[in-house]
Amino acid sequence: MSYEEWFEQHAQKHQKIVEKLLAKGLTQEQIIDYFEYENMAKEEIDFCPLYKMGKKCHDMEKLNCYLCGCPNFRFNDNGLDTYNGMKILSRCEIHNGSTIGHGGAVHQDCSKCTVPHHKAYVSKNFDFDWKKVMKKCKITS
Ligand code: SF4
Repeated sequence: MSYEEWFEQHAQKHQKIVEKLLAKGLTQEQIIDYFEYENMAKEEIDFCPLYKMGKKCHDMEKLNCYLCGCPNFRFNDNGLDTYNGMKILSRCEIHNGSTIGHGGAVHQDCSKCTVPHHKAYVSKNFDFDWKKVMKKCKITS
């Protein structure tokens, strides 16, 4: 799946859940809490493939899934830049994490960074519209 496809599909899933919660009258705080890993794995099993495996993307006791994708992530399926002749398809705006080579391209590796999964970060960067928070992620060429 391309970054673009993941981004659009995830945005739709996210929006559907938020709209459902708003219709039920949940507050911003309650919606953020709803997106805690344990609750999401129970209530929204299709939101993340890891839920079905009983796994977390990061080894954190309190992991919030609201900003999965991360506002600091930048991608372009056609390439942001090149490195040693390989396309760089993604990177981190704040230079966290590392890079990984996969499928003949260079990708951002966020596996050791927990920035967007902390509740405080989610609260600080919150919007009911996930795409608004992620508006800088997609770089068009
Ligand atoms: S390394 Fe961390 S801050 Fe950077 S894009 Fe990945 S999750 Fe976000």
